[in-house]
Amino acid sequence: MKTDSVKNRQVQLAIVGGGAAGMFAASVAADLRLGAVLIERKARLGSKVLMTANGRCNFTKDISPDRFLADVGPCAKFVAKAIRECPPRRIADGFKSLHVPVRRMADGRLFPADGKATTIVHAFGDLLRDTETPIITNCPVTAVEQTHGGFAIVTKNFTLEAKNVLIATGGVSYPKLGSVGDGQKFAKSLGHSIVPYRPGLIGLETADPRIVRRAGRRYEDGRAKVCGPDGTVLFDYRGEVDCEQFGLSGAAVYNSQRFIEHAGLKDWEIEVWFDRERLRFRNLKPRPVKEAIVTIGGVALDDVNPETMESKIVPGLYFAGEVLDIDGPTGGYNLTLAFATARLAVASAAARWRITSRPSSAAKTR
Ligand SMILES: Cc1cc2nc3c(=O)[nH]c(=O)nc-3n(C[C@H](O)[C@H](O)[C@H](O)COP(=O)(O)OP(=O)(O)OC[C@H]3O[C@@H](n4cnc5c(N)ncnc54)[C@H](O)[C@@H]3O)c2cc1C
Repeated sequence: MKTDSVKNRQVQLAIVGGGAAGMFAASVAADLRLGAVLIERKARLGSKVLMTANGRCNFTKDISPDRFLADVGPCAKFVAKAIRECPPRRIADGFKSLHVPVRRMADGRLFPADGKATTIVHAFGDLLRDTETPIITNCPVTAVEQTHGGFAIVTKNFTLEAKNVLIATGGVSYPKLGSVGDGQKFAKSLGHSIVPYRPGLIGLETADPRIVRRAGRRYEDGRAKVCGPDGTVLFDYRGEVDCEQFGLSGAAVYNSQRFIEHAGLKDWEIEVWFDRERLRFRNLKPRPVKEAIVTIGGVALDDVNPETMESKIVPGLYFAGEVLDIDGPTGGYNLTLAFATARLAVASAAARWRITSRPSSAAKTR
């Protein structure tokens, strides 16, 4: 789309960020016939989605909403409505309706059957092309400002007027894939609190030679336990343990690290089981947030209405995905959170639009 064609026109919904949440949001907006424009900082949509699960994209987990919410931990109450209205089964059915065959693993994780994340991103791309949804790529939004009629979405080359805005700019991990914390800055400039960033689902550092000499090896039938200083087992997860040059990674280690971070543990031990070894480590340092699978922290949930994903401070401003202080374990939970919060935000914006654009009773009688 030519950028000057949108200049000085007001759209119903500007979606800032074309990642998992933004692409899903634009698809829902097309379905609801809510005039939306999708604006993405990078040259293509979904750069991070393409990296998920080593390029295979574990897009959800085939479990009930109750089980999902029990597994997801601290943000469960906030995302409950979003997940109940857009549960894993609905996400899977949505992809099937876009002609994406789905493969289910024994533990319920769902992938595109061809094992390619590109299939997921192309499915969104095809849908947005077929619905003629305007997409502006290579275009970082530099500010989101309130105007009397809505919002000004400011970029280096033009300003777009929008009635509603959805900020879906992601967290701060893997910044090369586009998510650099811009949305949190916009939210802060509009009066929202930001919960400090911490790494979620990240490796733990150790120079122990029993790990380092196995660097590059993966152990699918591993296990990790987190224990308190008195030896009490606080968390126990069976899953992959990987040995790296820097230390430990893999799903069992990632989920343990996330548990430690959320529990705010200062003194803890992790016991890892793999390759007939059973090793215990104390207070290992996590790798930095820029390498994390997910960002813990972001726009404070107290400032956002969980029934609508709308800001409690600025009407017409919505949030979805990792820009919010929400995160889940490994296994398709984080993409599901991005999709479900995006759907709720757009459905709420559409409902708000219908209410505000309904003709007054005086107009109806004319
Ligand atoms: C290596 C890796 C593997 C992962 N594997 C999985 C997995 O298998 N399953 C799973 O469920 N989760 C996985 N995740 C997590 C998951 O990818 C994220 O939680 C999810 O992508 C978050 O979606 P989002 O839309 O909020 O953010 P993103 O997908 O990061 O999208 C944000 C978008 O906003 C754009 N943007 C940022 N700032 C601006 C701006 N100023 N103007 C315009 N656009 C902007 C960015 O360029 C980006 O495209 C993985 C993450 C990583 C890093």
